[in-house]
Amino acid sequence: MATTAKTEIAFTSLSHPAPTSVEQREQVLTNPGFGTNFTDHMVSIEWTEGRGWHDATIGPRGPIALDPAASVLHYAQEIFEGLKAYKHGDGSIALFRPEANARRFNQSAERLAMPELPEALFVESIRQIVAADRDWIPSAEGASLYLRPFMIATEAFLGVRPAKQYKYLVIASPAGNYFKSGAPAVSIWVSDYTRAAPGGTGAAKCGGNYAASLVPQAEAIERGHDQVVFLDAAEHKWIEELGGMNLYFVFADGTLVTPALTGTILPGITRDSILALARDEGLTVREDRYSLEQWQADAQSGKLVETFACGTAAVVTPVGKVSGREVEFTIGSGGPGQLTQKLKNRLVSIQRGEAPDPHGWVMKI
Ligand code: PMP
Repeated sequence: MATTAKTEIAFTSLSHPAPTSVEQREQVLTNPGFGTNFTDHMVSIEWTEGRGWHDATIGPRGPIALDPAASVLHYAQEIFEGLKAYKHGDGSIALFRPEANARRFNQSAERLAMPELPEALFVESIRQIVAADRDWIPSAEGASLYLRPFMIATEAFLGVRPAKQYKYLVIASPAGNYFKSGAPAVSIWVSDYTRAAPGGTGAAKCGGNYAASLVPQAEAIERGHDQVVFLDAAEHKWIEELGGMNLYFVFADGTLVTPALTGTILPGITRDSILALARDEGLTVREDRYSLEQWQADAQSGKLVETFACGTAAVVTPVGKVSGREVEFTIGSGGPGQLTQKLKNRLVSIQRGEAPDPHGWVMKI
C-alpha cells in the first residue's frame, strides 16, 4: 500500500526468547474463549513532542514500565480500537476494513487531544503483529484473531493538559465463536444511566466511556439481562446503542432504521458495513432517531419485526426481549429474525472470503 515519507518508519524486530510451545498454543486454539489468552508478540511505537513517532518495534509481549505519574493513570488519556484477522479456507490471512479502524482511531485521538497516527502506520502495525503471530489465528468456524491497538499518555506530569509523550501498542488475542451454536437472541435492559452526553466523548473509543458503562452493564446482568441499552442524555427518550454494539430496527415493510450518528454514538464499522449491505439488497435504510416508546408500540403492533445489535466481537446479534423501568416487550417471536440472519450471513461470508467482496473491504496480508 502507498506510504507517505512521514509514515515510513522501519520496525525493529526483537526475537522472542521463549515463545509458547506448539502444544500449549494448540490447546489455547482449541478453545480460545474471548479476551483471556494472548499471543507471543506486541507492537510498540513511541511518540514524543517535537520528534513525532519513533522507535517502532515488534517484539515479545510483556509488561510495560510506566512512571506512576503517567497521565493515562490519572486523567485517562487513552484510546483503543478492535478488529479481527481471519484465516480463509485457502490458508491466506485477511483483515476486514483496517483503514476504517485507522480513521476512527484518529478521530478518537483528536477528541482526546492525542497525536495523529498516520493511517498507513496503523495498518502496518497490524500487519506486523499478524505476521509475527500468524500461527495464533484459529481456523474453527466463527473464530479469529482479535487485535487490540491502543494509545496511552506516558508523560510523567500531574498538570491537566495534553501529555507530551505517548505509547502506541498492539496486542492480539485468539477469539472463538462468540456464540457456541448459532446466534441466540439477547435480552436487554434499558438503563437509567446515560453513556454519553452531547459535546462529550460518546463518539470516541476511549477507555473512560467503558469504565462509566460498567455499573449499568452490571445492573443489567444482575436483573437477568445480557446487555444494556442506553438512551440519550438530554431527553432520556431516544435509543442510542448498547454498551459495545450499535442497533438496527427492522420493520414489516422491509425498511431498516439505525440511530443516526449524532456525536454521542460510536460510529461502528459493522454498522457502516450493514448499511452498505442492506442497500445492496435494495432495502431502504434510514439513519434516524427512534424512541423507546415507539420501539415498544411498534413491537407490540407488529410493525417492527426484528431488532439486532452489531459490532466486531459478536458480529450481528438478534435482540429478543427488552425490559426497563417503564417497558417490557418481546420482539417478533423473541428469536432470531430472517433479515437479521441474512445480513449476518452476507457479512460473515465476505469477512471469511467465502463470497465476493464488492466493496473492497477485505485486505489480504
Ligand atoms: N458501540 C460501542 C460503544 C462499541 O464499543 C463498539 C465496538 N467497537 C461498537 C458500537 C461497534 O463498533 P464496531 O462495529 O466498529 O466494532
